[in-house]
Amino acid sequence: MQNEKLQGKIIKSLAGFYYVEVGNAIFECKARGNFRHSNETPLTGDNVEILLQKDGTGVVEKIIDRKNSLVRPPLANVDRLYIVVSVADPRPNLLVIDKLIAIAEDKGIEPVIIINKTDLGNGQQLSEIYTSAGFEVYAVCCAENQGFDAVKASFCKGINAFTGNSGVGKSSILNHILPGLDLPTACTSEKLGRCKHTTRHTELFKLNEAFIADTAGFSSLDIARCEDVNKQDLQYSFREFSEHIGKCRFTGCAHVKDAGCAIKARVEDGTINKSRYESYCSLYNDIKDIKEWEK
Ligand code: GDP
Ligand code: ZN
Repeated sequence: MQNEKLQGKIIKSLAGFYYVEVGNAIFECKARGNFRHSNETPLTGDNVEILLQKDGTGVVEKIIDRKNSLVRPPLANVDRLYIVVSVADPRPNLLVIDKLIAIAEDKGIEPVIIINKTDLGNGQQLSEIYTSAGFEVYAVCCAENQGFDAVKASFCKGINAFTGNSGVGKSSILNHILPGLDLPTACTSEKLGRCKHTTRHTELFKLNEAFIADTAGFSSLDIARCEDVNKQDLQYSFREFSEHIGKCRFTGCAHVKDAGCAIKARVEDGTINKSRYESYCSLYNDIKDIKEWEK
């Protein structure tokens, strides 16, 4: 009898093994030897073809084309990236948020903002910045168990991942959404000395039809590299700019200088939020300074 070929999704990769979900079954798989010699490494979130062995384990034979991938957390085919910020402790850093949004947009991932710790202050101003820029924003409070129904209802059928600085409450939020998960929290506690998330693998958990990635052990610093975004393309990663692009006096306007810039004019008349524009300029200058050979 020939070994059976099946198609499924990698829901966990750990110590050289890939756990592939096919329908209701999960098969422990190794990767085909060839993967080690190519640049291609299977990632959690990959849709793959596996060859089932007689002993019930499998071999990952083929990675089906990816939509996108992140390096840290190692994750493929991400549909929605929930960027978690807290009203206070730590205070939100708008540049970090905008950088994460830009990276997500560049990869075709829908960025979503979650504002946590609303018991410590008012998240209204922050909410307005991102709602008016065209993003979904959810206010939650782990301390008061509020706002999670709306977040749960917003998950898509594909892969939903979380990111954000340490201490904003990613683990606490995941514990509210997936009560069985029971992640350790307060990684930033000085008393603990070190983070309890020693496993840096990524696993997908099912919530109805959605996959939720347990990425609490990664902070936004891990993926906050904007260098891969092309400097000419950065403007398209700021969605509220889109209807004004092409209206500047000079073709190829980078929107960082005054002269006849339609984006700058919209910032001045309040149509585009100033902090978003400042983040754009800052990211543009960062990318501009990277020489081609450093990429
Ligand atoms: P992570 O590093 O992003 O995974 O954050 P954690 O989930 O470990 O949370 C960091 C700290 O913030 C912990 O001490 C939590 O108890 C606390 N925390 C989480 N959510 C809230 C909240 O809604 N209000 C308050 N006051 N503290 C919270
Ligand atoms: Zn311009």
